Amino acid sequence: GLQCGIVGLPNVGKSTLFSAISSAKAEAANYPFCTIEPNVGVVEVPDERLRTLEQLVNPQKVIPTIIEFVDIAGLVKGASQGAGLGNKFLANIREVDAIIHVIRCFDDDNIVHVEGRVNPVSDKEIIDYELQLKDLEAVDRKLQRIEKAARASGDAKAKAEVEILYRFKKTLEQGKSARTVEVSEEEKSAVADLHLLTIKPVIYVANVDEASLSQGTNEWVEQLKTAVAEENAQVIVICAAIEAQIAEIEDLDERQMFLEEYGLKESGLSQLIQASYALLNLITYFTAGVKEVRAWTIQRGWKAPQAAGVIHSDFERGFIRAEVIKLADYDHYKSEAAIKDAGKMAVEGKEYVVQDGDIMHFRFNV
Ligand code: GDP
Repeated sequence: GLQCGIVGLPNVGKSTLFSAISSAKAEAANYPFCTIEPNVGVVEVPDERLRTLEQLVNPQKVIPTIIEFVDIAGLVKGASQGAGLGNKFLANIREVDAIIHVIRCFDDDNIVHVEGRVNPVSDKEIIDYELQLKDLEAVDRKLQRIEKAARASGDAKAKAEVEILYRFKKTLEQGKSARTVEVSEEEKSAVADLHLLTIKPVIYVANVDEASLSQGTNEWVEQLKTAVAEENAQVIVICAAIEAQIAEIEDLDERQMFLEEYGLKESGLSQLIQASYALLNLITYFTAGVKEVRAWTIQRGWKAPQAAGVIHSDFERGFIRAEVIKLADYDHYKSEAAIKDAGKMAVEGKEYVVQDGDIMHFRFNV
């Protein structure tokens, strides 16, 4: 499945956040393909549309889609040179699809700050720097490998690749992350084989204390927001300690009351899950039958057969056609029969690009 890696300096609240994720974990039986490891938390993605479908279809079971979070502990200053868990840690980051960077924005004299004082901007830069150094090494290595031959060959494509690599090199040397380099999707292929760490999309989680949570911000959060403004990245304000408590409340009404005490509509974890899903450019389609109503995750832009393959590889191989209903039509006509009668059920072929929220029924040969 798709994974988000949780990173940050020691003592910023990563484990606390991860324990909230672990308590919120999805019903494992529904997701047999998921990784079961102590540092991986699998959570359901909240989706209002599932509730609408549930009311319309009245199924035996409702299965949301999921996202995985990996707790990546052990990053310290000097990690790129092997300090702490250094290289093991960096290898873990290489495998994830997106990065959740937790940053300490709370003051607590009892909890040691590894750098001696709370300073979110410098904390962020310490982590970035380690990752950027690793990326710079990778870019340099590739340049050494290909530059001479590219110039000698006179091949325009090879020369262009070298030029793109230099753009990444320059940015990284300026202490900026690879994700800030402006390149087209096509140009990105010059670095695709390097699996750069800082090219992965990122969300910043500002971990604040209880008082700041009610305010929605504090001076450190503001500093952080200013610092990341040009990265176009989201900053989510949470209080990890509170999240861990919320996740333990099973009764939904009780949980809602607890949230309201802090002036929140939804938990920080729920915001984080939804933001991560959006960050990965994922969309959801649904299948809806009396046995189960279920959400499925695909990448935006996937065509119907590929989307069907998420359910089963046979669906992709033997794909014939897809019947597609829009949720709004389902909500309006209330039953599949009525939708068909109204001519609102589309029959689509292999080239159909699945849209977010589509309700799909696949026809296939076995
Ligand atoms: P990690 O090293 O990043 O995994 O950090 P931990 O989750 O272990 O947190 C370090 C310490 O900070 C623990 O004692 C936590 O209880 C505490 N802590 C975490 N989040 C908060 C918070 O929001 N407010 C306060 N006051 N303490 C927190």
